[in-house]
Amino acid sequence: MGALTRTVTVLGSTGSIGVSTLDLFEKSGAEVEILALTAGRNVAKLAEQALRWRPKLAVIQDEKLLPGLRDRLAGSGVHAVGGDAAVEDAAAMGADWVMSAIVGAAGLAPTLAAARKGSVIALANKESLVCAGPALLEIARQAGGGVIPVDSEHSAIFQVLQPDCRDRVARLILTASGGPFRTWTLEQMRQATPEQAVAHPNWSMGAKISIDSATMMNKGLEMVEASYLFDTPAERIDVVVHPQSVIHSLVEYQDGSTLAQLGPPDMKAPIACAWAWPDRLPWPAERLDLPRVGQLTFEAPDPQRFPAVDIARAALQAGGLTPAAMNAANEVAVAAFLDRKIGFLDIAPLVSETLSRMNGLGDRMSGAGGDALENAMMIDASARRLAADALSRHLVLH
Ligand code: NAD
Ligand code: MG
Repeated sequence: MGALTRTVTVLGSTGSIGVSTLDLFEKSGAEVEILALTAGRNVAKLAEQALRWRPKLAVIQDEKLLPGLRDRLAGSGVHAVGGDAAVEDAAAMGADWVMSAIVGAAGLAPTLAAARKGSVIALANKESLVCAGPALLEIARQAGGGVIPVDSEHSAIFQVLQPDCRDRVARLILTASGGPFRTWTLEQMRQATPEQAVAHPNWSMGAKISIDSATMMNKGLEMVEASYLFDTPAERIDVVVHPQSVIHSLVEYQDGSTLAQLGPPDMKAPIACAWAWPDRLPWPAERLDLPRVGQLTFEAPDPQRFPAVDIARAALQAGGLTPAAMNAANEVAVAAFLDRKIGFLDIAPLVSETLSRMNGLGDRMSGAGGDALENAMMIDASARRLAADALSRHLVLH
C-alpha cells in the first residue's frame, strides 16, 4: 500500500475496539483522515479523541450529553452532534473505511448505513451480523465496499480460506478461550459476580462481550457470524476450547489438511488485517514467541456448564431471524446480570425461555431481502419485551 490517505469513520471509537483502532493508526503511522468518531455516552474520551484526530464530526449517541461535548470541543473546529440519527448520518458519510465497533444490536442501523454507501466495513460489531447478516452482507457486496471481519476468529478464517477451493471446506473450527470460568464448578459459577465474569484471562474487552465470553454465548454468536460470513451451515462449524488464545481459528479441508492462523491475543492484529487487506500492514506488532508460549492445549466445550453454545446452534438451525431474537434476549439477560438482578447461571435459561416464548416467530421471518432491517428490528423488539417479562417473573420467583 502506498502512502495514500484514506478517509475513515470509527463507530464506537471510545470502546475497547475503537481505542485499539486509533492506537493502531498512531503506532503504524497510517495515513488517515478521520471523518467521524462516534460514542454512546463517554463524552470525556470522545472529546479527547476528537481533539487529537480532528474529525469533521464528533457524535454522541445520548443527546442529553451533547451540551457537554460542545463545551469541550468549542473553538476546535470539530462539529459536535448527538442522537441516534446523527450516528447513522456519520456512518453514511461515505468514508473509504468504516470501523463498526458499537456494542450490541444498536450497531446494526449505522453499520447498514455505512454499507449502503459502499464503504469498506471492518466489522467488529458481531451483533449486527447475528441480527441481519445475510442482508448486511448482500447490501455491502452490492454497494461495492464489502465486509472484512475483525472478530479474531473470523479474521483467522478469512485469512486461511483459500478463495479457489471454498467448496472444499469440510469444517470451520472456532477456538474459544473458555473464559474466566473454564475450570469452575457449576456451584462456583452460580455465585459468580459481574466483577469475576468481566475479568477475562487473555483479552481486555468491553463489559458485554466479556460476560458473553464467560457464558460462552460469545462463541454462540460467533457461530452464527461464521455461518453467515462464510456461507457454512451450523453442522459444519465446531468449537474447541484453547485456553492460550494463540490459534485464532482453523479451516479443515476435505483432503484432511487443516490450516490455522496464529498470533498473540491482541485485537490490533485483526484490525490491522482489516485495514490493509489484501496487503499487510508493516508495524511493530508484538510477535509470537512460540518457545515462550510453550504449550498449546485443547479441550471440548462442556455443554452442561456452558449451554449457550448449543442454544446458539439450535437458533441458527431454526433459521430466519431466530438468531436476532436470541441476541436480543441475551442483551437483556447480560444487562440484568451486570445490574445484579439475576445470577450468572440465569443468563442462558433466560435466553432459552425467551426463544420458546417467541414461539417460532423468528424462524418464519427471513433475514434477507429489502425488509431485513425492519424485520430484524421487529424481532429484536419482541424478544426484548418477552425477555423483560420473563425477567420480571423471575424476580418475583426469587
Ligand atoms: P465497548 O463496550 O468497549 O465499546 C462500545 C462502544 O460503543 C463505545 O464507544 C460506546 O460508547 C459505544 N456505544 C455503546 N452503546 C451505544 C449505542 N446505543 N449507540 C451508539 N454507540 C454506543 O465494546 P467493545 O469491547 O469495544 O466491543 C465492540 C464490538 O466489537 C462488540 O460488538 C463486540 O462483540 C465486538 N468485539 C470486541 C472484541 C474486543 O476484544 N473488545 C473482540 C471481538 C469483537
Ligand atoms: Mg471473537
